[in-house]
Amino acid sequence: MARHEGGCLCGEVRFVADVDPMRVTVCHCRFCQRTTGSAYMVQPVFAKADFHVTAGTPKTYDVISEGSGKRISIHFCGTCGARVMLGFERFPTGVGAFAGSFDEPGKLGLSSNVRHVFTGTAQDGTVLPADVPLFHDHAIQLDGSLNEPKVLTEPARANR
Ligand SMILES: [Zn+2]
Ligand SMILES: [Zn+2]
Repeated sequence: MARHEGGCLCGEVRFVADVDPMRVTVCHCRFCQRTTGSAYMVQPVFAKADFHVTAGTPKTYDVISEGSGKRISIHFCGTCGARVMLGFERFPTGVGAFAGSFDEPGKLGLSSNVRHVFTGTAQDGTVLPADVPLFHDHAIQLDGSLNEPKVLTEPARANR
């Protein structure tokens, strides 16, 4: 059975996922750029029931998503500031993890069942992969219907 452990930078907050991620979302939205301080977020998504904090108590900071108007809760270590997971008002049974906070990110299967979202706000120079569903903004609309993805035959720079 899969078991993926991880934690914050200082080790105070630790977590474990009992299964492989349901899917992996690579998100290029401005929220994800800001909260990671980087170009995009690599987010393995788990059912809340399969993801457990095993040490420490993460602090929480709530943000209202500009896109959906729904609350996103950022859970982070109060000592070292590393983010460990996201909770979503929009998807209450799911947890968004941070790929880089796992002890062995290479075992998460980050290239399978992956989709890129909010490619419309991807930073200049970001290369989007081929053979992966790409969504200009959300993959799922607020009414629950799926948007039509674009699939490239060759990798390409965003916004070109
Ligand atoms: Zn820490
Ligand atoms: Zn995002």
